[in-house]
Amino acid sequence: MRSENPTVSYCQTLWPIKVQYYMKRNRIKITILFIALLGLVIVCVPNIFYSNSGVSISHGTPGNGSLENAYQIKYKTKNSRYFSPMSYYLLGNGYVNSRLYSTLLDSYSECERTCPKIDFRIMECSDKKGGKVLIHRTHRNGLSIDFMVPKIKNGKQKKFYDRLGLWHYLLQFDSNGRLKMNKKISIDFETIGRHIIALDNAARKNGLVVSKVILKIDLKDDFFKTPSGKEIKRRGIYFARQLPKNVDMMHDDHYHVDFKVMN
Ligand SMILES: [Zn+2]
Repeated sequence: MRSENPTVSYCQTLWPIKVQYYMKRNRIKITILFIALLGLVIVCVPNIFYSNSGVSISHGTPGNGSLENAYQIKYKTKNSRYFSPMSYYLLGNGYVNSRLYSTLLDSYSECERTCPKIDFRIMECSDKKGGKVLIHRTHRNGLSIDFMVPKIKNGKQKKFYDRLGLWHYLLQFDSNGRLKMNKKISIDFETIGRHIIALDNAARKNGLVVSKVILKIDLKDDFFKTPSGKEIKRRGIYFARQLPKNVDMMHDDHYHVDFKVMN
């Protein structure tokens, strides 16, 4: 049956011609876009469908090492999540030693009790095979993790700035732990301490020890004033005492933790 409305019929016949014209004119751009998307999918697929099994072996040190049979950390648990899909799926930096994988899970379940209502964010870990990770000097043997500093405003967790993904590494805090771009927000040092205590407990259970924590030097006095900071001092957990300026500058928005396999 013929259309009663000539405008509709005109548009309907013209539409495929318009698409064809557009495709023809932009063929090169569309091909490049398609290849880029395909490349993106090819790079991400192994990190989307990775499955953990067996036991990992870490070779060498965090500064010069590699990782065999890596475990991919869970993107999300009840009270934690990875900070960037780009880092996890595209760059493939969400891998650790299997012992550290269990340590992480155990530590967050302890935090459900010790830090109720706090959502933690895990930042970069290691590459699937270890070795060099972009922007990091260490993280090379699956036994180093960066943890995002939890933030508070008037005693309550504030998560707005936690959603910045890789840009979070660029946030700056003053020597009292206040966010430079919004001084009402500050680092929750007590929660960091409770988390490190949970990591220490869980590490021992899984055959690891916390070998080093890196936190910006001028934030350490605020940290060690807290009750959990004092407990960490009592336990003798080692915090870096001196750092090259550029390394020190980077460790205000996150704390870096190195682990070692217990002998
Ligand atoms: Zn680090």
